[in-house]
Amino acid sequence: MNDLPTIGIDIGGSKIAAGLVDRDGRVVRRTQAATPSDGRDAILATAVRLGREVGAGSAVAGVGIGAGGVIVDGVVTSATTLLPGWAGTDLVRHFATALGTDTAAAINDVHAHGVGEAWCGAGAGASTVLVIAAGTGLGAVVVLDGKPLLGAHGTAGHLGHVNDPAAADLPCSCGAVGHLEAISSGYGIVQLYHRLGGDPRLTDARDLVARAATDPDAGQAVRTSATALGSAIGGLITIIDPDVVIISGGLSSAGHLWWDQLRTAAAAAALPLVARTPIVPAGLGADAGVIGAARFVRQTLGSVSVKGQS
Ligand SMILES: [Zn+2]
Repeated sequence: MNDLPTIGIDIGGSKIAAGLVDRDGRVVRRTQAATPSDGRDAILATAVRLGREVGAGSAVAGVGIGAGGVIVDGVVTSATTLLPGWAGTDLVRHFATALGTDTAAAINDVHAHGVGEAWCGAGAGASTVLVIAAGTGLGAVVVLDGKPLLGAHGTAGHLGHVNDPAAADLPCSCGAVGHLEAISSGYGIVQLYHRLGGDPRLTDARDLVARAATDPDAGQAVRTSATALGSAIGGLITIIDPDVVIISGGLSSAGHLWWDQLRTAAAAAALPLVARTPIVPAGLGADAGVIGAARFVRQTLGSVSVKGQS
């Protein structure tokens, strides 16, 4: 059973990807589609269709799903900023039934990406891996010997929602003010730039980063944003002592200024003993979520079966 491939499905805000992943983490078949904009049921139907597509004709050991929201025991328990009806969705039961397997598992999408990177991306071979997802939002996950740290309520790793003095009174996507995400996410860095008096027509973090060398407000936004995130990472390095810190998401391609500030701030904030911990870009690209979801269900093989069917 454990030699069989597993299916990984990564349900994102703009696209849904599915892959048939072998026991060594290779994606042997993959497909994807745009995420439907007409509600939860359409999203689930598309994800099921893609899962069937990659699994067609193959014996599989199970299906893993990575999706937004807080997920506990396969059920979405909280999804305040996502689509209506997402909270309460029993992902495990839905996909197990639809795909005809009695082995399914679901995990938060940031956690899935981290598990994928730790397994066969930039963290391959390391036992303690900290993965920072710096995209539109800001999240993190600690992966210990291949397993994600989920916490007592499934919320572990919400790095974006810790207080940071540099974010002061800035509004956060969660409704609070003063959180790190409000300054260090893709959205946050643009918000900071506007607050500094930058061009109000600029709304894309990539455009902002591209003009950091010529637009003083953009340069300042990049420095402030990367320094705040780097300081937070330095604190996490001190607490967790990871072998490696991996940065994934759109901001990981933000260029030298962002990376230099981030690494300098992290080293300054961390204990000297761990200040040289490597901080590196992610290695798997768009496959990370699919591979991580496929890995996560593999970890449950033999120990967990679908509720009500065991
Ligand atoms: Zn927040």
